[in-house]
Amino acid sequence: MKAGVKETDGCARQATALLLVILMVSTIATWSDTRPAQTQIGSIGETLRTDSVPAGDYDRFSRGNFSGVSLSKLNLSLSLNETGSSVRGILLIDFYNDDPVSFTSIPFHLYPSGMAYESRAGKIDVLNITTIDYPPETLTFDVHSSQQLMWVDLPSALQPGEYASLNISFVTTLPDGGFDRAGAYGSDIDHTRIFTFSSCYPVPCVYDEFDGWNIDRYIEVGDPFYYDMAFYDLLIEVPQGMVVAATGNLAGEFTQDGRIQYHYNIALPVREVTFSASRHYVVESALYNGVNVSTFYLPASASIWEDNALLCSIQSLELFNSTFGIYPYATLNVVEQHAAYGGMEYPCQVYITRGVSQRIQSGQRGLWYFELVVSHEIAHQWWSQLVGDDCVDWGFLDEGLASWSHSYYAEYYHSDWEYYQSPPLIDTVRTFTYGCTINQSNLVRPDLTSYVDYTEMPVVLEKLRRTIGHDAFLSGLGGFLRDRYFLIATLNDFQNALESSFGGDLDWFFQSWFNNPLLPNYVIQNAVYNQMGSTLTFSIVDVNRQSNVYDYCQQVPVKVYDSGENIIAETIVWVNGSATVTVQTTGNPHEIKLDYSNYVIVFLPYLGMEYYSTHEIEISLGYAVLLAGAVSVAALSILIVAYYLKKQRAG
Ligand SMILES: [Zn+2]
Repeated sequence: MKAGVKETDGCARQATALLLVILMVSTIATWSDTRPAQTQIGSIGETLRTDSVPAGDYDRFSRGNFSGVSLSKLNLSLSLNETGSSVRGILLIDFYNDDPVSFTSIPFHLYPSGMAYESRAGKIDVLNITTIDYPPETLTFDVHSSQQLMWVDLPSALQPGEYASLNISFVTTLPDGGFDRAGAYGSDIDHTRIFTFSSCYPVPCVYDEFDGWNIDRYIEVGDPFYYDMAFYDLLIEVPQGMVVAATGNLAGEFTQDGRIQYHYNIALPVREVTFSASRHYVVESALYNGVNVSTFYLPASASIWEDNALLCSIQSLELFNSTFGIYPYATLNVVEQHAAYGGMEYPCQVYITRGVSQRIQSGQRGLWYFELVVSHEIAHQWWSQLVGDDCVDWGFLDEGLASWSHSYYAEYYHSDWEYYQSPPLIDTVRTFTYGCTINQSNLVRPDLTSYVDYTEMPVVLEKLRRTIGHDAFLSGLGGFLRDRYFLIATLNDFQNALESSFGGDLDWFFQSWFNNPLLPNYVIQNAVYNQMGSTLTFSIVDVNRQSNVYDYCQQVPVKVYDSGENIIAETIVWVNGSATVTVQTTGNPHEIKLDYSNYVIVFLPYLGMEYYSTHEIEISLGYAVLLAGAVSVAALSILIVAYYLKKQRAG
């Protein structure tokens, strides 16, 4: 989805940036050792099984071989009306029923009417729908504007494994204001006018086992999108002089009467298509590893984009390609647009908004912010595009992975996973005071979606990496991609892939971190120091346990100090819900501290706090002292009795 916040003259030029990428081996410390016996998990740090996940169709799909694969086919012809800020379109669709039920009607999303605008609302006017037979049969359809939805009645029931062929004529009005994913905004006078056509044609809804037809409207929180892969062919006609950035490989162009028509060949399946056009785009391109990477930006943003955008795009492509798996397409465009967010992902094309450049140019943010948004949106090519998901019900999955990935970009190129984070995301998570469950639909916790997607999820993913080890984690991400390549994924699929690379069950991790509303909040109770034996025993208890469903299981470093603040005992404890700890000390304990500095995730009352500590330690003299005391008392009593007896006799 769109990240944080989000932005060219027609002179194309080839950039020949020399991109030297220095591989930096990440060394994320992994604790080893003494997990609680009841938690059955594999050995941390064990040898990776990079071949443990079956490749499925990954090998041939990644080479572009989709022979025998049945998917819907969409031929989309678009014509931009510059003065009217509208696009006339014809969609020829062979809708493929890959579900086990028959359909008599099919729903399509008509998203533009749900988009934000200033004075000109977005909309799709559907002119007519027919079959592709000759003569064509006119079909009836119902438009539900408030739901941004259209139901098309089929001429006959569509059985599983069959195609329904439709011809849909429509006109899309692009909203103004420059707020949302699609729009016509900016001025030709200052060379900022851009037309962005995204989510702007009737797109068939997805039918699945969870919801039946997924007909969610264009909701404001997170991304409302959920698409199946399909074969596309794209024709875009614009006035001459416009530069077009679009999904796919430019295969041909045709000029007539002051207008130019571009044909984009999209050889491999994609989930949707998009284009953006401007008379002012500056274009830079470079060929990287067989992929034509291009950036399109406004002259006003050149100080941010020039060379940087292409470098960052290619570095992102290289890192994610080598880390997660193969980006199989021939093109990748990074394109400036006007919108109120930071960036937005589409197949083979991502948008970065003018607002990103403006924030950096005004000094509000550093250049790191541009890198963050570019790498984030490109990471979505893997997480939401190649591996798709229902962005309403499982949006945390693709957003969380893209957010973890942009921080991984920072780690790789700046040696610090938290390089873009100020304050560190984990501090925000630890001090977040609302109950918040990750594994929920955005419709259930709309106000928390942004927090879950961009803050809590990447921290939990980072926690997972530090728990199972860097290599097992990355191997799991690669396995997840291979398992669900060109398919839809859920959290279970993600867990299965991670378990496969880890070599053991991970319920103990996923159940608590994804399904509990509250973080653990540890206190120390019943601390007793046995002076004679020099042993300190205490319990670590999670006081939030009653509010959650599952025990949290994580390692917590413990340190014991004497009154001179010297460490007199130190250990790392697996806290599985709670824990009882006994340590040998080298002196009298004065303070017990739980050290939260290394991604121990707990609730904390204020930012920057990195430990819990207590001085409440009961000192026990021990049995030997008690016994010696008892013997002394008994002996004294005997002496006193003897003294009085002697005195009586003397009397
Ligand atoms: Zn995103």
